Amino acid sequence: MSRENEPFEETAGAEEDRVLSGTEKEIHVDANVSKCPTCGANLVYSPTLKKLHCEYCGGNVDIDLTDYAEEVPFDRLTHTYEDWSTETRIFACSNCGARTIVSRKDIAPVCPYCGAHNIVEQKDLVGLKPNAVLPFLIDAKTAAEKFKAWARRRFFAPRKYKKSAKAEKIRGNYFPAFTFDSDTFSSYNGRLGKYYTVTVRRNGKTYTEQRIRYFYISGTYSKFFNDVLIYANRNKDEKTMGKLLPFATDYAQKYNDDFIYGFGASQYEKEGTECWGEAQGKMREYVKNAILAQYTYDIIDSLNINMSFGRVTYKYMLLPVYIGHSKYRKKLYNFFVNGQNGNVAGKTPVSPVKVTALVLLGLLVVVGIGLLIYFFGD
Ligand SMILES: [Zn+2]
Ligand SMILES: [Zn+2]
Repeated sequence: MSRENEPFEETAGAEEDRVLSGTEKEIHVDANVSKCPTCGANLVYSPTLKKLHCEYCGGNVDIDLTDYAEEVPFDRLTHTYEDWSTETRIFACSNCGARTIVSRKDIAPVCPYCGAHNIVEQKDLVGLKPNAVLPFLIDAKTAAEKFKAWARRRFFAPRKYKKSAKAEKIRGNYFPAFTFDSDTFSSYNGRLGKYYTVTVRRNGKTYTEQRIRYFYISGTYSKFFNDVLIYANRNKDEKTMGKLLPFATDYAQKYNDDFIYGFGASQYEKEGTECWGEAQGKMREYVKNAILAQYTYDIIDSLNINMSFGRVTYKYMLLPVYIGHSKYRKKLYNFFVNGQNGNVAGKTPVSPVKVTALVLLGLLVVVGIGLLIYFFGD
């Protein structure tokens, strides 16, 4: 994707300026759409009802909510491949380049990032089929309210923006992620150091000196990790996405098309094996910190940890995220809302006045401290 780690911003006028070329007509699919049994309109998954819902006549169709996602042994990740393309299609936004996957039974979406309608179906394969999905629990209206409340609390945002920030074209979109379980066993050894002070007399004078007392450590550490989560898309910056956590991945359902009717999904950009490498890194970090937490030390001279990862399983999961944007002075600012717990992350405009004021305040403090030291320090 073209938005590598960049805060996504573009001029709001872009959508209106587009000229639809002959190949970029809006796409409507009539075959295989999941229809309302009463009125024949398209059904969508309703987060609040947990049913397939008809927005025209209000009819509902039950879906199976008792089928929880299962852990899959790790070797299946490298030895089997179930393609998702038979059930889904992939579209690319002509405006911002974002790629969105939708069910074949669904109508063509708008781009979740910029709201553009000219999205073009792609020929390339969608990729690996998920085996788990975490359904949306809050609806788009609630997500929009969560965004408004969040925007009001942004300290650096201009006051005018905070008062009028509105969620535009908010859309439920599943983010791909892998979760990994592993029963780990680690053995370790190393040398840590602790500071102490001594009083020495030299030439008739008394000095205090700092010394280091080294000590050797060794032992074992066992830890079972459950659902270590790694996002499988690259374009989101880690810090922003981290603010959406946690997702209650233990409640993931077995993947079923029903959950994505009326929603989109982002295509994964990292293979499962790459995500497993990242998950191992997280587990190693945890174990290292847990081992060190058992000791009182000031410096780490050496630490070797030999870690084995037993009984590795994974789930390739879709995570519920609302994507929307707000407009301010013709610019779009994307935000994300966790579709389970309503946590919000994203970008807002920044008030130059507030930033300048804070920088000046900072300078004043520095100058103030400098003057204090000048006049009262020895
Ligand atoms: Zn209906
Ligand atoms: Zn777009």
